[in-house]
Amino acid sequence: MPTQPFVHMPLPTRVVFGAGSLSTLAAELDRLDVWRALVLCTPGQTALAGKVADLLGDRHVGVFPGAVMHVPIEVAREARALAARLNADCAIAIGGGSTIGLGKAIALESPLPIVAIPTTYAGSEMTPIYGITTAGEKQTGRTMQVLPRTVLYDPALTLALPVSISMVSGLNAIAHCVEALYATDATPITSLMAEEGIRALSLGLPRVKDRADDIDARGDCLYGAWLAGSVLGSCAVALHHKLCHTLGGMLNLPHAETHAIILPHAVQYNASAAPEAMARIARALQADDAAGGLHRLAIQLGAPLALRDLGVRREDLPRVADQALRAPYPNPAPLTREGILRLLEHAFEGAAPH
Ligand code: NAD
Repeated sequence: MPTQPFVHMPLPTRVVFGAGSLSTLAAELDRLDVWRALVLCTPGQTALAGKVADLLGDRHVGVFPGAVMHVPIEVAREARALAARLNADCAIAIGGGSTIGLGKAIALESPLPIVAIPTTYAGSEMTPIYGITTAGEKQTGRTMQVLPRTVLYDPALTLALPVSISMVSGLNAIAHCVEALYATDATPITSLMAEEGIRALSLGLPRVKDRADDIDARGDCLYGAWLAGSVLGSCAVALHHKLCHTLGGMLNLPHAETHAIILPHAVQYNASAAPEAMARIARALQADDAAGGLHRLAIQLGAPLALRDLGVRREDLPRVADQALRAPYPNPAPLTREGILRLLEHAFEGAAPH
């Protein structure tokens, strides 16, 4: 039973889940009463976007294949202009967080509903958070206007996600769940979802590693990713996300890999300050302790373990620590420069968390 008072506000996205759910797209557009869809994708996913366009026939008015990581403002402007020129009344974002982020950038300026069809485990589709990069600086914000109206989760669309990307993307999703468990605004419902998300991902990812086309395992991972995105959309994030945003922004590191490396160390940092969250993480992982369990999972999945393998230099660490302390997110354990630097040094070496 909950011991603390809480406020829970579920977000109103309609979720259609299951292998083959892409085939419900036209019916979902009927529900939204939209007729002129603009399809968004990355340059690498044009074939998939073409399949969506074929599925929609006259109902699609164009494909914008220019989504790239971190939504540069120039790309957002180009996509907005195309949506306006084509008089699009809906954006269909098929792809990972970069493509869904582009959909959000369009919706920020015009009230188009977004239909998101995620093909990674990043979770952006379930959040009202957007990010746009101007002159190398990413600015994020939160508004319900960018929250996708409908999300189609079709595990069949993730079969082509390369195993190495699947592993780090899944660990990124686990990170959302982990921080939701010790968030200042966690509720009994978000905690249930977060624990279940860690369980589903930690069971699914090793099976995907063994067999990339295991549709059941892919389904478990995507289910976990849905839960992870949902709690990311509802709960505040803490030190782990702050460090990843800081490292990503300052050193231009790859998003999911950075999450995979930092997570066990950020959890270790918070271990004694958030014992209940730690117990739930360990239980979901079927491990003796949360940080050690996450480290062993990363090893099992063949994920990168060390910041130095991403090209970080040891001398970068002090300024990353300073920057992370400049506008810190609320965190269970008190934030000290010395403690954060130690955490970063462990992550730099890829050592077991301690
Ligand atoms: P991504 O969208 O950049 O995709 C990575 C690469 O994988 C791309 O080249 C893409 O074309 C390819 N790809 C995607 N799905 C594939 C598939 N099924 N098969 C083959 N290739 C595929 O990466 P991501 O990790 O999904 O998203 C990262 C971005 O999302 C970051 O910018 C991050 O900040 C953002 N994000 C935002 C939120 C939010 O709530 N706003 C949440 C999570 C992530």
